[in-house]
Amino acid sequence: MKFLPIFLDVNDRPCLVVGGGKVAARKVALLKRSGADVTVVSPTLCAELANLCDKGGIHHKAREFDDQDIQGRVLVIAATDNESVNHKVSELATNMRIPVNVVDTPALCSFIVPSIVDRSPVQVAISTGGASPVLARLLRARIESFIPAAYGRLASLVDEFRQKVKDRFTESDQRRYFWESVLQGRVAELLFAGRDKEARSALEEAIDDTSQSYETQGEVYLVGAGPGDPDLITFRALRLMQQADAVVYDRLVSQPVLDLVRRDAEMIYAGKERDNHTLSQESINELLVRLAKEGKRVLRLKGGDPFIFGRGGEEIETLAEEGIPFQVVPGITAAAGCASYAGIPLTHRDYAQSCIFVTGHLKDGSVDLDWERLAKPAQTIVFYMGLHSIEILSRELIAHGLPETTPVALVQKGTTPEQRVFIETLGSLPALVKKKELRPPTIIIVGEVVQLQKKLRWFGMHGAEQN
Ligand code: SAH
Repeated sequence: MKFLPIFLDVNDRPCLVVGGGKVAARKVALLKRSGADVTVVSPTLCAELANLCDKGGIHHKAREFDDQDIQGRVLVIAATDNESVNHKVSELATNMRIPVNVVDTPALCSFIVPSIVDRSPVQVAISTGGASPVLARLLRARIESFIPAAYGRLASLVDEFRQKVKDRFTESDQRRYFWESVLQGRVAELLFAGRDKEARSALEEAIDDTSQSYETQGEVYLVGAGPGDPDLITFRALRLMQQADAVVYDRLVSQPVLDLVRRDAEMIYAGKERDNHTLSQESINELLVRLAKEGKRVLRLKGGDPFIFGRGGEEIETLAEEGIPFQVVPGITAAAGCASYAGIPLTHRDYAQSCIFVTGHLKDGSVDLDWERLAKPAQTIVFYMGLHSIEILSRELIAHGLPETTPVALVQKGTTPEQRVFIETLGSLPALVKKKELRPPTIIIVGEVVQLQKKLRWFGMHGAEQN
């Protein structure tokens, strides 16, 4: 993060705007909306700003900027078209440790002004750290379109009843569950439908309703996080990620996905790098049980899909034995995600009528596969965890009848900005291992469909690398 996002209380506080043009007018209007005590210094004012000043509540000093103007301000904005004045304002304010913004000149600013979605008291501030104000505006337009205007009214209603709810529910977890149910339930729906009165009575009823329990009941959500790109998680996964109290995640779960988890959830890394198991499977199973028994909503977040080479089954078996409620949310498995992002259809009428997912790594470290069943024509094979068995799988598939020329794709870190695709053939695979640095996670796709990649690839800056 290049900037610390904060919301500043400028109500009744002295703020200074130097400049009298249109840009200054916009800044003055913004400060006024936040209740600031605004002084404008400028010999002349544009019509817009003159208009604002005429409405009252703004001090206008019709003269050039003077060093003394900075004194006692809590915030200063320079918006003149005179560079040396802007410079001077910035320098003086900086020396006095007063937050200063010089419009369109990041180098002279100690703070920047975000794009704002205003549903007061709800506010969303967007910044690109000065990189692209246009992008911030575009993003703002999108956010505007999916935050209902009624959010402001909803927040005001909540604010009004906050103390009452605090008195009624003394435990902070209980309060949170109460508010989650209110804000995702009938009260919010009534308000969005413009039925504010009914929303208010529904909220009052909910507070008084002693039959409803907001006791913490432990539960485990076994959730597939997909192969890496955060856009590929499901709506349901996102919702559960936002309400979890504790998160147990694997190495495969990408940082951008983790960034979507509720900020104050307890994060527990369960690791699992090949040959370097951070937590044994048994300890993970026990951990999930313990956390749920403490009454926590536990998010067990796994790369890809939890039921495809993810040991999800083993984990919920333990939960089922212990009588702990759980739910399973599918994710896009690496084979599907990587194939799509590499431009390789796993089946295709002209090339493959079936597709088979296999693991190249067994529990005891060996590779013991039914090669005969794999080496079939018109079939795509996807190897998970196959990096260490590349030589074996190339040798065995050839020995069992697949031509040496069968195309093979290796997709590394698929669906992420670091995705790399290597196109080989079964015959050239072993040499590749020696030549290139192959890193996990990599998925190996074998079959005639791989030829289509040349035509259908679409994702990523690196494109495909032909050896
Ligand atoms: N449950 C996961 C698979 C876990 S096994 C899923 O459904 O995807 C781990 C293997 O998945 C890795 O060794 C690698 O072969 C594959 N894999 C997972 N994410 C990947 C990615 N982003 N790119 C390439 N391969 C990936």
